[in-house]
Amino acid sequence: MNIEPYWWRDAPPAERDAQKILNTCDVAIVGAGLSGLSAAITLARAGKSVQVFDRGIAGAGASSINGGILSGNLRLSLTDSIMRYGKPRGMAMYREGIDARNAMRDFVRAEGIDCDLQYNGRFTGAMTARDFDGMKRTAEIEKDALGVDARILERADQHEMVGSDLYHGGIGRDDIGSFHPAKFFIGLLDVAIKAGVIIHDNTPVLGVHDKTRVQTSRGTVRAAHVIVATNGYGDNSNTWLRRRVVPVTSRIIATGEIAPDIMARIMPGMGTFGESRYLGRYYRPSPDGERILLGGRDVLVGVNPTGAARRLAKNVGAIFPELRGIGVDTHWTGQVAFTRDEMPSLFAHDDIIYVCGFCGSGTVWALWLGRKAAYCILGDGRAQTAFAMDAPSAVPLYSGRPWFLPFAIGYYGVRDWMAGR
Ligand SMILES: Cc1cc2nc3c(=O)[nH]c(=O)nc-3n(C[C@H](O)[C@H](O)[C@H](O)COP(=O)(O)OP(=O)(O)OC[C@H]3O[C@@H](n4cnc5c(N)ncnc54)[C@H](O)[C@@H]3O)c2cc1C
Repeated sequence: MNIEPYWWRDAPPAERDAQKILNTCDVAIVGAGLSGLSAAITLARAGKSVQVFDRGIAGAGASSINGGILSGNLRLSLTDSIMRYGKPRGMAMYREGIDARNAMRDFVRAEGIDCDLQYNGRFTGAMTARDFDGMKRTAEIEKDALGVDARILERADQHEMVGSDLYHGGIGRDDIGSFHPAKFFIGLLDVAIKAGVIIHDNTPVLGVHDKTRVQTSRGTVRAAHVIVATNGYGDNSNTWLRRRVVPVTSRIIATGEIAPDIMARIMPGMGTFGESRYLGRYYRPSPDGERILLGGRDVLVGVNPTGAARRLAKNVGAIFPELRGIGVDTHWTGQVAFTRDEMPSLFAHDDIIYVCGFCGSGTVWALWLGRKAAYCILGDGRAQTAFAMDAPSAVPLYSGRPWFLPFAIGYYGVRDWMAGR
């Protein structure tokens, strides 16, 4: 079994020559993923000198290895967002999700990035009849409040989107797309370099002192502003952040090849798929339609990776019985990031700007909030966002080793089991 991201076959992360480090710059950015580069592009295009530092190779965090689902989803439902943040802000968060998703699509088109962006429909399957009732209500609320065009598919009709009998009906959406994340990242990197951003691979930031002195493994840089965009990959260079952002490992498998007639039957529209579970699985066809990529958060501390990949493959068989016993061609993991609020967050602490907390659905949010972070520095009115948060509170009894995750995952697993999912 291979353990390299499927996406890197077509678009491997590029090893580039080391760049000279400038002693001073307008903005230093820690982390060269989608968030960091999005901020960097906006700043560089506004005339700022920008250096981005990454511990590894740019994009090799979550940004080039994710599932490539372009959704801008939020963990909290619209109703829950309104309950927590009040009606105007809760609504604004959901509206911003639509804007952010469209902004990513527009960016791909405006920059001419070739990344297999497609809108082939999204199906979210209901694991129980009760879930289906709840999903119908949510779809109606979102339609009335936001004009979201969701199709309610009864069990008898779901085969038009998914060739599985596992679900008790589901919701179809045409506004959620898919793309090839590694191809997208290469395009983004190219845009950043052309905009004049200096990107330093393999240059960990060891600490930021007095708000402006960025200590890296290759020397110290003085920057007027600092943005931290490390999301699920934060390390001990920033212990304050580590106590606030919990990384969770997420695994994806790419199955062995599947015959075209089977693919046409099980994924007639070649869209993307999700489910009504706490420990949700998501899946999609590879862009060439030859394999299924399925992801889930079943990773427990110390888990045997091959066993975890095989378990995910069993999930493919549970959804599509004709694929029982399907092999795994490759599998890989990455880190997603949760704060206690479980919402994407832009905040400042000690004059440093942070973007993080995308809860596993972050490509759209990373680009969007990265840009907002840049607008904050530029004093641009477009910095306005409903996701401007107070700094997240520290997670109790946590200092960087998420010892509680097996319990949390077990807890949600039990809730799914009790709900019959
Ligand atoms: C397996 C998986 C599947 C996913 N699927 C989807 C999906 O289908 N759709 C979706 O929207 N989202 C998905 N996501 C989430 C999405 O990929 C992330 O939210 C997004 O890429 C976050 O981008 P980022 O730039 O904030 O962070 P990252 O891309 O994770 O980048 C953070 C960077 O910070 C660097 N770094 C950390 N510490 C330091 C330091 N001290 N010095 C220098 N650099 C440092 C790291 O090396 C890393 O490159 C998925 C994530 C994973 C892991």
